Amino acid sequence: MIAGGTDLLGELKEYIETPKKVVNLKSIPGLDEIKADSSGLTIGALVTLTDIAAHTTIQHHYTVLAEAAASVASPQIRNVGTLGGNLCQRPRCWYYRNPDIICLKKGGDTCYAIEGLNKYHAIFGGGPVYIVHPSDTAPALIALGATVKIVGPNGDRTMPLEDFFVLPDVNPQRENVLEPNEVLTEVHVPQPKAHTKSTYVKIRERGSFDFALVSVAANFEMNGGNLQQGKRRPRWGRSYPLAFQGS
Ligand SMILES: Cc1cc2nc3c(=O)[nH]c(=O)nc-3n(C[C@H](O)[C@H](O)[C@H](O)COP(=O)(O)OP(=O)(O)OC[C@H]3O[C@@H](n4cnc5c(N)ncnc54)[C@H](O)[C@@H]3O)c2cc1C
Ligand code: SF4
Repeated sequence: MIAGGTDLLGELKEYIETPKKVVNLKSIPGLDEIKADSSGLTIGALVTLTDIAAHTTIQHHYTVLAEAAASVASPQIRNVGTLGGNLCQRPRCWYYRNPDIICLKKGGDTCYAIEGLNKYHAIFGGGPVYIVHPSDTAPALIALGATVKIVGPNGDRTMPLEDFFVLPDVNPQRENVLEPNEVLTEVHVPQPKAHTKSTYVKIRERGSFDFALVSVAANFEMNGGNLQQGKRRPRWGRSYPLAFQGS
């Protein structure tokens, strides 16, 4: 399946993926809309990262998501890269991206990152593979309590985004629960409670566009100038195969 193609085309050019057919999701109508109402925010899987970052309601009420989308890659990639593609993108591990290396994630029997180059790999929760999920929007959406809708030949299902991702010890070959022929069609974010503040902090190695070394997606209920005890905790990105819940 291809949406914006910013991730998949690289994999096809390097023969990391060699599908017999590629289905163009962009021809499905209605998946490129953002709807905001009293129940919250519904974002179609084909909405671009640029449109999320520039959406006034998202900037004001779902700030962590607008900031995370704005932090992804470069303007050119954000203009075509979609939310669905950002959540479903494959890992950036250099062994995975090398067509000549068949590591554990590609069906081999060794994770070369354990003994090899692992500067950008998981420091929590890895094993038997040590990828970190590259998505900036995932920890932001999980911090906001988002759910995803999945549509496939056996019907629809909805689940918390947190449950959409799988750890490598559950399935070392995949990063999410999608079955073949299933499509992530939309993301729903509940309306934030009053007095909620959120933000996304991303630390990167380069001054220009780059994947995060580590990131924090924080969504807090405020009590005056103070954080309210016991409310949603921050999510750490890029240190874990999925968004790690901090304290
Ligand atoms: C140079 C560069 C820098 C980058 N920097 C960052 C960064 O800093 N932060 C970050 O988060 N990302 C970064 N990315 C990744 C980029 O954000 C993703 O490539 C983009 O979001 C993917 O969206 P797309 O629509 O182009 O997906 P595609 O390339 O079309 O698809 C990506 C994958 O998702 C699958 N897919 C797409 N949509 C769906 C769907 N609706 N349902 C099921 N499966 C689907 C495809 O089959 C494919 O496997 C970077 C990419 C590049 C090339
Ligand atoms: S971290 Fe994953 S993708 Fe990288 S070498 Fe290990 S198994 Fe392969």
